[in-house]
Amino acid sequence: PASGGGGSRKSASIEGIKDIIAVASGKGGVGKSTTAVNLAVALAKTCKLKVGLLDADVYGPSIPTLMKLEGKPEVNEDMKMIPMKNHDVWCMSIGFLIGKDAPVVWRGPMVMSALEKLTRGVAWGELDILVIDMPPGTGDTQLTISQRLRLSGALIVSTPQDIALIDARRGANMFRKVQIPILGLIENMSCFKCPHCREKTYIFGHGGARKTAEEMGMEFLGEIPLEVEIRSSSDEGSPIVVSAPSSEAAEAYNEIAQRV
Ligand code: ADP
Repeated sequence: PASGGGGSRKSASIEGIKDIIAVASGKGGVGKSTTAVNLAVALAKTCKLKVGLLDADVYGPSIPTLMKLEGKPEVNEDMKMIPMKNHDVWCMSIGFLIGKDAPVVWRGPMVMSALEKLTRGVAWGELDILVIDMPPGTGDTQLTISQRLRLSGALIVSTPQDIALIDARRGANMFRKVQIPILGLIENMSCFKCPHCREKTYIFGHGGARKTAEEMGMEFLGEIPLEVEIRSSSDEGSPIVVSAPSSEAAEAYNEIAQRV
């Protein structure tokens, strides 16, 4: 990833981190967290980078489950939280700090102060890249994160469905408004691959994401199929790039990691 890229932005980066990229989606449930996790692990294992993963989805933190991490982070002598590591990636999530079933019923300012702690209150050390699993949508939190951290770029995840692509456009426009470069669009759940006959079914339509990317001048980074193994490996905390590294999905994630 290109270093720096601050340009005329007034935002500040986090000490010791070369690049910060956001994985975003206009809608929830399209596979943003799954993509963020698999890309972070691919960047660490395949691209041999020092990688951090920040769960900024404060209302629905899923990184602890997806990365099979639990417990509370320890604090160092500077009172900074030490991130937790699995699959070669250093992780931080609000999920480590609150109970598993506790609802997060915070208003905007509390969310922002929590995110401040989860970014600058963490002893990240020297990282090549910090991947941020953003909250879904284009609200205040997303805007503030984009402006306060010096994001090198944003990746947009969408399903091929029109209704998701409309929101993906909104997400892309939000980043453009605050001058964050868009690294590209990833189509998740592009087709269903039957585990028996391997035939492909385009449940959510076909070609829409590529067309949207073209229309909006974004790079189309690749397609991830809808596969049982992606879901089951995620639930077990062993992302598909680790559990089935030679699968088509893992290869697609590795290719995207090499391109960003
Ligand atoms: P988001 O972060 O956008 O809310 P998640 O990454 O949490 O979405 O994914 C929502 C659900 O869909 C999860 O259960 C996840 O395992 C599943 N999922 C995501 N992508 C795929 C895929 N390509 N194939 C199968 N299941 C998927």
